[in-house]
Amino acid sequence: MQTNFSSAQLADPHVAESEKILRKCVHCGFCTATCPTYVTLGNELDSPRGRIYLIKDMLENGRPADKEIVTHIDRCLSCLACMTTCPSGVNYMHLVDHARAHIQETYKRPLLDRLTRAMLAFVLPYPQRFRAALKLAKLGKPFIGLFEKVPALKPLAAMLKLAPASIPVASPNALPGVHAGQGAKKGRVAILTGCAQSVLDPAINDTTISLLTRLGVEVVVPPGEGCCGALVHHMGREEAALASARQNVDAWTGAIDQGGLDAIIITASGCGTTIKDYGFMLRLDPAYADKAARVSALAKDVTEYLAALDMPEPVRKPGTVVAYHSACSMQHGQKIIRQPKELLAKAGFVVREPREGHLCCGSAGTYNILQSEISARLRDRKVKNIEATGASIVATGNIGCITQIASAAKLPVVHTIKLLDWAYGGPKPDGVPEERGRG
Ligand code: SF4
Ligand code: SF4
Repeated sequence: MQTNFSSAQLADPHVAESEKILRKCVHCGFCTATCPTYVTLGNELDSPRGRIYLIKDMLENGRPADKEIVTHIDRCLSCLACMTTCPSGVNYMHLVDHARAHIQETYKRPLLDRLTRAMLAFVLPYPQRFRAALKLAKLGKPFIGLFEKVPALKPLAAMLKLAPASIPVASPNALPGVHAGQGAKKGRVAILTGCAQSVLDPAINDTTISLLTRLGVEVVVPPGEGCCGALVHHMGREEAALASARQNVDAWTGAIDQGGLDAIIITASGCGTTIKDYGFMLRLDPAYADKAARVSALAKDVTEYLAALDMPEPVRKPGTVVAYHSACSMQHGQKIIRQPKELLAKAGFVVREPREGHLCCGSAGTYNILQSEISARLRDRKVKNIEATGASIVATGNIGCITQIASAAKLPVVHTIKLLDWAYGGPKPDGVPEERGRG
């Protein structure tokens, strides 16, 4: 794509980066066919190609964002299916991240939208605040129907609907410490404790620590870890996202300096995509660029790490039929495709893949709160495809997808690691039916 940026504009490294990305796009439109919002809404401006044109026009003309561009960029899930499809290697992720930061800087949203976003940014990345908010949400549940009738209050209704009926007790494993591996030492890793996941389902990390240590891997929870920054990053709050990134880089650099690390284990693929991008996000910060690049290189989804270990034979082969839902951040963001399925199959599960596996379930960070109608359409489509597999359970590697799919599916939805842990001698995950034999 031809671009017309002035040399003064290109002096801004963010603009220069976006210009390089724009020039790679050849307008072929292949990406439209796999874009969930184009497939759902049928509007070119809600396709990757349409959004790329809008972003180019805004940046080239040095214009503040307007209502039209905000509408279509807000509808983008950042699912990155377009990046998997694009034959020209267009880095849509970095382009849309830049556009979102530009929107945040130059566009004044309506008051209730601003308040909702500020509240999400204040609450979600902080486990204690999030836990308190979920307790409060119980009081708000009777008013969901009322809030749904007022367009500006729909995000509040969506939030209340997603809030779980009960909140698990916080796990002591989220506190800093070292979990020694059993037997011959196979490795030493840090684990991201994260934010929302540690409140909604602390058993995911507990199970990961239990399985890894049984396999001989020492697991460190370094002091100072926090939210990865993805939630605010996707809202265009660049400074907040970079502050989170720096905090985690410091925490993991400390762990690297005190004993070394083979990997930084992440159990929520949405966080993994962001942490693997820290090297890019902090490339302009001389104090952090090298450290951030090192952290990104060490970041591994737990299934990516396990697939590279010499896994023993499982203790039991459950034979349960599992529908594997590959989160967008897993398959498109990190290109982790085969490892979770192969691990499940090796552990004795019968793995089935739903149709349209490339399409997002509509979770996408805060998307199911801020764009609840499109999100619900994508969720229902996803659940229909999952249920058509005839599986007894759904496995996936991202807490956002677990919450989203479980809000509509009749099947239990569990993190992949819990099924692996069960096969390797751990307890049967809650809600998973007894073995049914191979289907
Ligand atoms: S990130 Fe997803 S929703 Fe956004 S343009 Fe790409 S395919 Fe479409
Ligand atoms: S597939 Fe790639 S090159 Fe083609 S229009 Fe989409 S982003 Fe541009």
